[in-house]
Amino acid sequence: MDKREENIVHKPHCLVLPYPIQGHINPMLQLSKRLSHRGIRITLAATKHLFKTKQQLSGSISVETISDGYDEGKGDVDLEPYLARFEQVGTQTLSELLEKLGNSGRPVDCVIYDPFLPWAVVVAKKHGLVGAAFFTQSSSVNSIYYNVYKGQLKVPLPDKEIIVTGLPLLKISDVPSFVRDQDSHPGSFELVLNQFRNVEEADFVFVNSFYELEEEVIDYMAKFLPVKTIGPTIPSMYLDKRLPEDREYGLSVYKPDTNTCMEWLNQRQPDSVVYVSFGSIARLGEEQMEELAWGLRLSKKHFLWVVRSSEESKLPKDFAKESSETGLIVSWCPQLDVLAHEAVGCFVTHCGWNSTLEALSLGVPMVAVPQWTDQSTNSKFVMDVWKMGIRAKTDDNGIVSRETIASCIRDVMERERGEEIKKNAVKWKEQARKAVDEGGSSDKNIEEFVSSLTSNRL
Ligand code: UDP
Repeated sequence: MDKREENIVHKPHCLVLPYPIQGHINPMLQLSKRLSHRGIRITLAATKHLFKTKQQLSGSISVETISDGYDEGKGDVDLEPYLARFEQVGTQTLSELLEKLGNSGRPVDCVIYDPFLPWAVVVAKKHGLVGAAFFTQSSSVNSIYYNVYKGQLKVPLPDKEIIVTGLPLLKISDVPSFVRDQDSHPGSFELVLNQFRNVEEADFVFVNSFYELEEEVIDYMAKFLPVKTIGPTIPSMYLDKRLPEDREYGLSVYKPDTNTCMEWLNQRQPDSVVYVSFGSIARLGEEQMEELAWGLRLSKKHFLWVVRSSEESKLPKDFAKESSETGLIVSWCPQLDVLAHEAVGCFVTHCGWNSTLEALSLGVPMVAVPQWTDQSTNSKFVMDVWKMGIRAKTDDNGIVSRETIASCIRDVMERERGEEIKKNAVKWKEQARKAVDEGGSSDKNIEEFVSSLTSNRL
């Protein structure tokens, strides 16, 4: 038992409610593990469908289910009706779960919820519990959404650029797509703004970032909300490249091809491999997929490319077979293990927030090829603020050409431009490690939260 755990007589109990997609489950689960190490009892509330498809969770985190109203899977239901039904059925089943846990001698003290489900804090308050919102996007993106929500940033946006306190000047193409073009994905604009619905009721507001990364905007947001950074939510064992002991991703929607990837990487030279992934949701157009494939070939680097099975048919014919000497294509990989591997020298990424934070924290230079949502904003910061990569330019049709892909990869891995990027990569890796180490900015915020729960309980 952890020392800190021994000191706690009555374990405070947090119920953790993620939005059921990979990029939101991972950081919630990692925060849960960190809290659990500090003697907090954790119950993860998973939707019934997710729990059915999950691998077993090990360790001290219990899993209970609630319903989103689609226990057999939501299929291709649109976002708006999905969210409405989730709110209706979820409110009731979350309430029932809290009662059940109370009646079985495991009363909950605090609900940590994903603000994509803003009704959860209302349920928590009805039960007299502490509410903690956990934002899984960057503080900068939070601030843009918050300003739109408050009407301080008016949509439709002006033509060229926007000014938001605490952020660099943003071109319209740097702004999250749901704000830039509110009709592009019905329901998404409302979803990202609704994160701030009821947030005033939350006692804690956590963000998966670290103070040193986004100081100015965090200070600005702290004027309005009790924002605390608690990231990066990456197990600290990855931050110094020691062999990870805890490989569990937990509730992984896809199954990683771990052995194949690691054995293949073990045979490569340090900093020689390009790792390519566009996360769990983004779908590339056929033309973009083709350009990417030939761009990798043109770069003459070894590559490990994650192509989800639903995307496979877009690969050029026989590309995988013909590339087998230089490249490995898998349908899912253990991304943290891959980024932590010394063979990986460049990450071609969509710049989802988790992937961005993981690459920053593990010191892997990036080539950003953003697709939608907050990825263009993250790319802007990767290139111009943290200077840890290059955003690949698109042509007039919105496509990143094969020549651009190959040239960006070479810039990052070989050319002078890459030297500064590599230096910054070392710097950010160090800063990330410090933030989560004992006494670091994120560690202190987590400690404060734990102490507050513990003192309420004693
Ligand atoms: N991921 C993974 N294996 C893969 C690709 C991605 O484990 O082959 C993980 C990655 O480490 C990250 C998450 O999936 O934690 C993707 O989240 P992100 O925010 O980057 O993108 P999203 O999937 O939400 O677009």
